Amino acid sequence: MPGTTTLDLDTSSFKGSISINTGLFIGGKWCDPVDAHDHAEIINPSTGKKIMDISLASSKDVDLAVKAAHKAYKTSWGFKCPGKERGKMLLKLADLLERDADQFAAIEALNVGKPYHVAKAYDVMGAVEYIRYFGGWADKNQGNVIETNEAKLAYTRHEPYGVCGQIIPWNFPLLMMSWKVGPALATGNCIILKPSEMTPLSALKFAELVVEAGFPPGVVNIINGYGPVVGQAIAEHPDIAKVAFTGSTLVGRKVMEASAKSNLKVVTLELGGKSPTIVFDDSDLDQALKWTMQAMYANMGQSCVAGSRVFVHEGIYDEFIQKFSAMVQGLGQTAGDPFSANTMHGPQVSQVQFDRIMGYIDSGKSEGATVHTGGERHGTEGFFIKPTIFTDVHPEMKIVKEEIFGPVAVVLKFKTEEEVIEAANATTYGLSCCIFTENISRGIRVAHALENGSAFINSAQLVDHGVPFGGYKQSGIGREHGEYALSTYTQVKGIHVNLGIRL
Ligand code: NAD
Repeated sequence: MPGTTTLDLDTSSFKGSISINTGLFIGGKWCDPVDAHDHAEIINPSTGKKIMDISLASSKDVDLAVKAAHKAYKTSWGFKCPGKERGKMLLKLADLLERDADQFAAIEALNVGKPYHVAKAYDVMGAVEYIRYFGGWADKNQGNVIETNEAKLAYTRHEPYGVCGQIIPWNFPLLMMSWKVGPALATGNCIILKPSEMTPLSALKFAELVVEAGFPPGVVNIINGYGPVVGQAIAEHPDIAKVAFTGSTLVGRKVMEASAKSNLKVVTLELGGKSPTIVFDDSDLDQALKWTMQAMYANMGQSCVAGSRVFVHEGIYDEFIQKFSAMVQGLGQTAGDPFSANTMHGPQVSQVQFDRIMGYIDSGKSEGATVHTGGERHGTEGFFIKPTIFTDVHPEMKIVKEEIFGPVAVVLKFKTEEEVIEAANATTYGLSCCIFTENISRGIRVAHALENGSAFINSAQLVDHGVPFGGYKQSGIGREHGEYALSTYTQVKGIHVNLGIRL
């Protein structure tokens, strides 16, 4: 039988025990993997020490989960369960998550290294609101009547795909899960969700709430495993109709390839970015600085929308860089225990990510860029990196072109609006951008000219569950959030009823 591990936490923000199932959640039950020998050590990134072990699945477990999901879809979900009932369960799930917000914040702080107070306010409450929002949509997923002629009734139904695979990353484990679970369940799909093998703990705890909220067994299946094993098996599975993936562009391409080669399943991808932040000389500098900080360093730079290329108008460059580096150094001084109320800067998620980011810092130095601030590890344990600014950078440098996914900004100077638009668009990515100016006409003009799925004028990172979110270019395919998300989880059937045409 699969086990549970109890985590006893005695921190300045959270005191108490949290029990976590270590197995696979398939068909509403906890089970061991079919080949029950593989496990992963889950590491606390603040210390580098082990938190606990979890079981890892193989493709055989994916098969079992797909069978359980199909059974649930045929007997008790999709159109077998009215939208208003699905909505009630989602609303209950949101309430339960809110009830347990402290526990979930503690799990994210422990497993991901997020400051506890940020995890609670942003990740956990963001997930609560997201699921609640989609609970509200569950009975509003409707087709249209289409006027053709008097002898015909033509209408559309927005039907679920049936069984969907969902693969998520480690940077916002709970929040990314809510972005997947909410619209899929609201539209009547059953799901097989694979969290990142590094950050599975909040998903395992979440499975308990799925049972408590009353979802029929098999509607939600959560299985841990390595990407090339379980993720690949989901992408290749002939009985999964749609796969939704959030992660790197590299892996997104593999998911699409596997989906195309197996059964041409529908694919939506939320991928990486190298988003520009543009600060014009007519901006409210104090506000622009604060938002630029937020855009770049929130979640230790491990954010797909991170504003990692900062373009500053030459007229304010010197003042900007001086104030920006003082603020970045101030942020670095808060680095430490994620459970401390003063911490704003936690560790990177893993040794691998730490090494990757330090590799980029070395590459910036060797290509001739200047480390203006940071550029080294913080402390002696865990995976902390000081928030870093590079100046004297060139568009051809790796640190300007590639997604670093860590607390590393490159700052570039510009002269004209035309020039900065061209430079900002000179990337294969197109996820998000921020524009700072007090001239709203310019702000809107530039937002329209930039090739990104989201544009923030005089703000950053303020995604909203009702506003579509997704990438242009190689940052993704499809949209999450709002009504747009419903359309990515439904297929449209046109129905023609003959009211009198006779042959
Ligand atoms: P990743 O691509 O390495 O992994 C993402 C998920 O894919 C994990 O669950 C992993 O196990 C799985 N995976 C790995 N190989 C696989 C394979 N061959 N087939 C199927 N699945 C596989 O990404 P990551 O390092 O976990 O996350 C960081 C990346 O995610 C960054 O590029 C970031 O920009 C992106 N991201 C994008 C968004 C967005 O909404 N656009 C949000 C968060 C993160």
